[in-house]
Amino acid sequence: MPNTGAHAMAWLALAWMLWTPLADACGDPPPHSPQYRQRAVHAAARLGATPGYALAHGWSLQPEAPSLVQAGQDVYGRPLRLAPGAAAAMQAMLEAAARDGITLQAVSGFRSFGYQRRLVRRKLDRGLPLASVLHVNTLPGFSEHHSGCTLDLTTPGVPPTDAAFADTPAFAWLARHARRFGFELSYPAGNAKGIAFEPWHWRYAGPSPSDDGLLAQMSSAHASPVDVPIHTSPITQGYP
Ligand SMILES: [Zn+2]
Repeated sequence: MPNTGAHAMAWLALAWMLWTPLADACGDPPPHSPQYRQRAVHAAARLGATPGYALAHGWSLQPEAPSLVQAGQDVYGRPLRLAPGAAAAMQAMLEAAARDGITLQAVSGFRSFGYQRRLVRRKLDRGLPLASVLHVNTLPGFSEHHSGCTLDLTTPGVPPTDAAFADTPAFAWLARHARRFGFELSYPAGNAKGIAFEPWHWRYAGPSPSDDGLLAQMSSAHASPVDVPIHTSPITQGYP
């Protein structure tokens, strides 16, 4: 059949079109396999976490991103990898910030399960108690960075992942505008997940729905950063 190759290409193209939106479904609850859950359970046990620690803190399993793109470099000069939708949204957000005189720099995007396991292990090996480590890092399998939809940000003059970021004009800008680009603060102060306030950690939840009301509030002359709800989804949502 002379057209076999062309037919195969057409089917491949169709499969790609059908698959691609799923591959970057940053806003949807992520599916995960029983094998991935087992891997997370084993890793947690080897790191010394009590069974059910993640469940007790309302953490959801975060499968590794099915597709990633390189989105420039992070502040350390390493390749920054993100899910395609998150990369595009980040680019738009950084450009908008720059137009307002705000410099935002990426610190960290996608992180693998293995990277997270080594990160926690390194801290334990340095003598930090597990409880302290899990106040600032999730167990492997539960990091939002696995999804490729989450970004740590900083600004010149502030060390990466430093609480001082909360006091910068860059953070104030994010609090007012990030939602417009689909980004939400995952760990506000006093969050129910037992994670410290992380003003640098922003999750892309997909394109903003109709946010006319919020945008009107943001542009109001009386609005200040603290007036704006910077965590708009319930803390118990399946995809933190
Ligand atoms: Zn982070």
